[in-house]
Amino acid sequence: MTDQLQQLLALAEVDKAIRTVDGRLADLAAEEARLRDRLAQEEEAFRERQEAHRRLRHEALTKSTEVDATDAKIRGYQKKLDHEIIPYKEMEYLREQVALLRARLDGLAEEALRLMEEAEQDGERLREDEARHRERVGRIQDDLAAVGRQRDELLKQKDDLNAKREVLAAEVPPHLHQHYERLRGSVSSPVVPVDGGTCGGCHLRLADTTLERVREGREVVTCENCSRFLYWQWR
Ligand SMILES: [Zn+2]
Repeated sequence: MTDQLQQLLALAEVDKAIRTVDGRLADLAAEEARLRDRLAQEEEAFRERQEAHRRLRHEALTKSTEVDATDAKIRGYQKKLDHEIIPYKEMEYLREQVALLRARLDGLAEEALRLMEEAEQDGERLREDEARHRERVGRIQDDLAAVGRQRDELLKQKDDLNAKREVLAAEVPPHLHQHYERLRGSVSSPVVPVDGGTCGGCHLRLADTTLERVREGREVVTCENCSRFLYWQWR
């Protein structure tokens, strides 16, 4: 095998390694996107949970306010009945109202108390839910940090490979390098072995003269069909 072919093979190996690193970087990017989605869903679910608790508290408070307002109304009417001289019709009306409001007050107070207790219990559950939520968020953030570390490591590997590639590429004669780069733009492996009389890239049968030239290894030979660089695999 010529030095030039060896250089091309080394270049092809580095390029293959770079593609592998790129593939893993793409996998990591997908993993990171998935984790960020989960984080957003987790935050959203907890916001909804908090909102449900706020609604319950608000409902309880509204009911308590209604109890107080009803109570104040009864006192006001009663005061009027006890201390003011009012027409009979109005008096009848006020008595009726007081009776009605009193009848409603017990139910309201009971409902307000029930809601308060419910809000109280839900507050305790919310604290537990929050602890679990924080735990889950923590785990996702740990996973994200791990992904970040792996990405940094891969980027460093890629930098090293690119530096290596630059050195190798500079060693290859320009006309071969240009041909290599053209191939690299269209096929995944620009340098392939001869495989049982066929090209290891396009798998078409090679001319006997081509096979002979590859086997001799005195020059750089390309496939007459796909123009990939060919090398002989001695087994
Ligand atoms: Zn070929």
